[in-house]
Amino acid sequence: MTAPLLKVEDLRAYYRTRRGPIKAVDGVDLAVSPGEIFGIAGESGCGKSTLAKAMLRLQKPPAYIAGGSVRFGDTDIMELSEEALRRLRGGSLAYIPQSSMNALNPVMRVRDQIVDGIAAHESFSGEEMRERADRLLDSVGLPDRSGRMYPHELSGGMKQRAVIAIAIALGPKLVVADEPTTALDVVTQRGIVQALAGIKDRLGTSIILISHDLAVHAEIVDNLLVMYAGKVAEIGSVYDLFEDPLHPYSQVLAAAIPSIEERREIKGLAGQPPNLLTPPPGCRFEPRCPKAMPICKTKEPPLIEVAPGRRVACLLYGG
Ligand code: SF4
Repeated sequence: MTAPLLKVEDLRAYYRTRRGPIKAVDGVDLAVSPGEIFGIAGESGCGKSTLAKAMLRLQKPPAYIAGGSVRFGDTDIMELSEEALRRLRGGSLAYIPQSSMNALNPVMRVRDQIVDGIAAHESFSGEEMRERADRLLDSVGLPDRSGRMYPHELSGGMKQRAVIAIAIALGPKLVVADEPTTALDVVTQRGIVQALAGIKDRLGTSIILISHDLAVHAEIVDNLLVMYAGKVAEIGSVYDLFEDPLHPYSQVLAAAIPSIEERREIKGLAGQPPNLLTPPPGCRFEPRCPKAMPICKTKEPPLIEVAPGRRVACLLYGG
């Protein structure tokens, strides 16, 4: 079995408040293999973005890492100095934050922004860097002329592609993309998904794709982590999670995907996620779970392996 490129164990990222810590990410385990596209799904506020930032140590106060480990290859990310971490994030690890297409410099041509990113870490002649920038733009499906354009001249989809080109400029081994298709129409979303898949295919780059949109995951990811209220509900191949979801929350999510083959009523999920300042002592999904048992109120379900590559945190499956 191939060693994971990224291994996260018992990662906890909290937000400091006067009333106590908000446990936004509370004991997450995951592993991403080389060349894998790994999806993280869950409703808004479940901790997906906090998890992404915590994995790369990008959290800002009042967020803080309360414990756990993150290994990237042989590197312990939690032990790195700020300078070493900055070099790693600029080279082997790339992060595409939410709404990053709005963070492009409005007064700089797109190609120059890519060249700037390369020049901060590597030295080539100006001509070489411009050629490299043009190849990068081409690799994410942008025409040559887009390099000479300013961000306001690009559509939303083109801006997102430009952001991806900047992120992959230094040939990262892992790209963490937080909601890269949000605020884009369905056709443009598909183009972005294909651009990410192309990067994996051509460069062998691993990708962690964070999205609340299950249709996006269905199209591109290999393995999917379903997160609920700061914890892992289930991890498995995207096929298993859609065809045979085990956790009651995954079942609700899968049932909410519209089908073009059959007409059926789509049921929502009643209630709200728990307050993470005072999460329920047992299963965090218990107040909304259609299959809850009395024990679920008091016993926290561990994440157990139910089949190779398939893990679920639910007392229906032992634990
Ligand atoms: Fe539902 Fe209990 Fe499973 Fe939680 S542990 S998901 S409450 S059945």
